[in-house]
Amino acid sequence: MYKISVKSFFSAAHFLKNYRGKCENLHGHNWEVTATISGENLKNGLLMDFSALKRILKSLLARFDHKSLNELKEFKKINTTSENIARVIFLELKKQLPENVSLEEVAVSETPTNRASYSE
Ligand SMILES: [Zn+2]
Repeated sequence: MYKISVKSFFSAAHFLKNYRGKCENLHGHNWEVTATISGENLKNGLLMDFSALKRILKSLLARFDHKSLNELKEFKKINTTSENIARVIFLELKKQLPENVSLEEVAVSETPTNRASYSE
């Protein structure tokens, strides 16, 4: 089994609902998103071109960049936690990958010391 990961970023504002603490107030983060894919078959020695994977991830994150996450339709009914952001990105990214690879995990960091991930 081979695995590769790419990392991309977006900047956005959010606040957490039904939460007591610093994050109940509107604030921003530079979110770091790491996507990991896996597969058993290489094409020309590659599982998938890093730049192709990064291009898909980046275009997906563009819809969050410089937005207020709480106002986006994806988060109307769920809190804008890193866990939920990871799941939303996972489900969308999964649809856009070639058939020879599987999406292993999407991990989201709000800060260098925190990380949440989603996998199926
Ligand atoms: Zn926050």
